[in-house]
Amino acid sequence: MRIKILGSAAGGGFPQWNCNCRNCSGFRRGNFQGAARTQTQIAFTVDEKFWFLVHASLDLRAQILNTPELSPPISEPTGSPIGGVFLPSADVDAVAGLLHLREFQPFFIFATSSLQRILKKENRIFHVLDRAEPPVEWQTLAARGRLGCHFSQNPGEAPAFVCGTFPLGDTYPDYVSQEMVRTLIPDEANIGFSFEHGNKKVVIVPSLSGHNPEWTKQVVGADIVLIDGTFWCDDELRRTGRSEKTAREIGHLPLSGTNGLLEQFPRNSHGRRILVHINNTNPILDQGSSEHRAVLDAGYEIAYDGMELELR
Ligand SMILES: [Zn+2]
Repeated sequence: MRIKILGSAAGGGFPQWNCNCRNCSGFRRGNFQGAARTQTQIAFTVDEKFWFLVHASLDLRAQILNTPELSPPISEPTGSPIGGVFLPSADVDAVAGLLHLREFQPFFIFATSSLQRILKKENRIFHVLDRAEPPVEWQTLAARGRLGCHFSQNPGEAPAFVCGTFPLGDTYPDYVSQEMVRTLIPDEANIGFSFEHGNKKVVIVPSLSGHNPEWTKQVVGADIVLIDGTFWCDDELRRTGRSEKTAREIGHLPLSGTNGLLEQFPRNSHGRRILVHINNTNPILDQGSSEHRAVLDAGYEIAYDGMELELR
């Protein structure tokens, strides 16, 4: 399995257009030790032919153009190696990029039934995806489940990879009406993924609220874990003047502090741990910061745009 991190920042990217925090202003002045980042977008392949996306970021068009593997096959007048998109939640960060994929291209969208209802019933703009012939095909994921993904029509053949799902939290984005939320399944609000191919397993959790501890079982035994590195501390948005809300209040377990991610991450997990979805305010983006050093010393890697991972 080969994984490419096309984008590694949280919503807004880094630097963020309207933010003058220490990171963003330092970057603009040219005295920041660290790279710009687009919004979190992950792509993987198990056969070097078909690629699957996790998230559909607002930067998706540029991210695809920057990734030669995702160009249309040379032999075809039209088409894409992108076979499908896995959506973890209905967050704007995670779904808005579907609109970049509206150019009459059939592909699969994997999402929980609650998420599908949000996108199809309340946000009819996503119906532009149905103009493809054949239209995009929605595949329903359970909050807890295992789905074998087949590339061939032959029912006797083993799946190319298996997608496992597990619930991460019960909060729907605030743009979803309360009336709609009352009809949705709480566990389907935000799910994590495990992708298994051969005897290798990658776990992807771009947004971790900490409201549900099931993720801790999933990361044990994974060869690679891509996990929520949005905020360093719980009051980061207040400290940087961005918002009065805490990291936890907006659905992200901070990295540091009591019961933060670094403290909660299971000690018996031995795979690579890579932080994704990093907010522009997060001091770990600054390679000269003590926080950057602290996450590296704790055994984590910090994802960057263009990072490639290989599992053999
Ligand atoms: Zn900023």
